[in-house]
This record gives sequence, structure tokens and C-alpha cells, in this order.
Amino acid sequence: MSSAAIPITTAEIVAARPSKNAVDPRRPYAFFVEPEATALGSIEDVATIFLTNRECPYRCLMCDLWKNTTDDAVPPGAIPEQIDYALARLPNATHVKLYNSGNFFDAKAIPPGDHAAIADRVRGFSTVIVENHPQLCTDACARFRDRLGMSLEVALGLETVHPRVLPALNKQMTLADFDRAVHLLLRDRIAVRAFILLRPPTLDEDEGVQWALRSIEHCFALGVGCCAVIPTRAGNGIMERLERDGLFAPPRLDSLERVLEAGLRLGRGRVLVDLWDVEKLASCPRCGPPRMERLRSMNLTQRVAPSIACDCGT
Ligand code: SF4
Ligand SMILES: [Zn+2]
Repeated sequence: MSSAAIPITTAEIVAARPSKNAVDPRRPYAFFVEPEATALGSIEDVATIFLTNRECPYRCLMCDLWKNTTDDAVPPGAIPEQIDYALARLPNATHVKLYNSGNFFDAKAIPPGDHAAIADRVRGFSTVIVENHPQLCTDACARFRDRLGMSLEVALGLETVHPRVLPALNKQMTLADFDRAVHLLLRDRIAVRAFILLRPPTLDEDEGVQWALRSIEHCFALGVGCCAVIPTRAGNGIMERLERDGLFAPPRLDSLERVLEAGLRLGRGRVLVDLWDVEKLASCPRCGPPRMERLRSMNLTQRVAPSIACDCGT
């Protein structure tokens, strides 16, 4: 694959978008509880609340999270209200993810005036996990952790350490920005997880696997505790254009398997693969379901399970 048509501008990315979904600023747009492997090796329930809030100001090439966001800032009190709404309907869990399709420490997304009310609502959990752009990691993270009085984990999108692809993602972040954010968070005793893309645009299948693994290794060398690998997907308009132009193809299921297997074998920290929409990659009716189940099980046990043979070539 070539990088001839990259870079693509912010204006092109925005112009290619389909319309957003209708969202209610007083309701989270999704919430559920699911088990996850902990840093200590146990499996514990994690509540994930997808908060509705103002769209992230970054316009990454592969991002489709803006679909469930508002154009304008949500009113003060709306975020705590959303958390109340979700917690009243969710079963008990030990940890909570407050994911906001953007950056928790973006004052226009999550009003800082709501931090105290948010902390009050999640104090019964052992860990709070939020997502944030590396450039928005400041002392505000430690202040929020102090307010919580419990473990805070910040999820950062590294995406890739590939020196040509990372700038092409329009994330407006250098590898040095990412490293600085990780150092700052760890200094403040805030755990870090990283999102890593499997096969971002312009990489072929093997390069996709190799660079995902290099990215995982980079994260663990910095002290990141958990790497979550996300199969790059189309769905935001511009990615479909890249697909048509031969500059992007989603990864195959066996690439996701290879990355999880090799990542776990490093033994440096947790490696998880994102199984949202994995059915699209697991198209073979014979091996698809058991291979998805194997990935689910490896996510939880953090151990490599015997592989599942099939002649379908996926
Ligand atoms: S920083 Fe995250 S939420 Fe914002 S555009 Fe990039 S991928 Fe999407
Ligand atoms: Zn098969």
C-alpha cells in the first residue's frame, strides 16, 4: 500500500462524514457491565458508561466516536445525571469506565465544575477509568484523582508508533507527546492504558501486525499497564474513501489473533483485543464463533489458548 493520498486534511475528514445519531444530553448513549482481566490477574466486573457530551475537537482520520456526541457543550449537571441514570440500571461492578468519546479533561466536554459531583457518584468503585488525549494530560488528572481518593486510570490513544502513519492520522500528537503524557501520569501514580490500532491506513496485513506489536512494546517499555488493540474499521466516511482508493483494508481475524498471542507472550502487561464488531472479521461459519470465543477467553485469562484450525483462510 502507498501513502500517496495521505495526508488528508481535517476539512476532508469532516466533509466525508455521514450524519450523527440523535443523542440526549441528559442520557448516556450506552452502558453495560462486562468482566475484564485486572492487573493482579483476577477477573472483575467493569461498568462502562458511554457519556453523551460535546464532540472531541481532534479530528482523527479513523475516528467514528463523534457519531454519538453533541455539537454544543452539555449543561452543568448533565454528566452526573447521566451517571446516575446508568448506575441505577446497572448491576454491581468493581470498576467503572467513564468513556466520553473524547477527552475527560477537555473542559468543553466534561465541565470541570462537575468533577466533584462525578467523584461523589463513583466513589464506591475501586478504579475509575477515563479516556484522554495525551496533550490534555496535565495536573488536572492528579487533582481529579485526589478528589476521587481511589485509583484512577487514564486511557490514551497511541494508535501506532509508525513514524509515517501516526502523523497521517491527524491526531495532532507526536510520539514525544504520548511519552510525555505517560511519564506525567505515572509520576502522579495514575495507571495508564493505551489504545493501539491494528492495521491503520496504508499498512498491509503483515505490517499491520508488526507495527501493532511494536506499539505494544513501546507502551510496555514506558510503563503502560494495559494495551487495548482495536481492529481499524471503516464507518466514518473518509475511511470508506481510503478503502475504495486501496489505502485501507480492515485487518483479518488471524492478525488480531497473532497480535494478542504475541502481546501476551511478552509477559509485560495486560493485552486486550477489542471485540466490538469482531463478527465482521470472523466471517467463516465454522471457525468464526469458536475463534471469537477463544479471543474472549484469552482477554479474560491473559493466557494463550490452543489455536483453532480451519481451511477457510481467514
Ligand atoms: S482524539 Fe480520540 S475521540 Fe478525538 S478524534 Fe481522535 S480518536 Fe476520536
Ligand atoms: Zn473457517
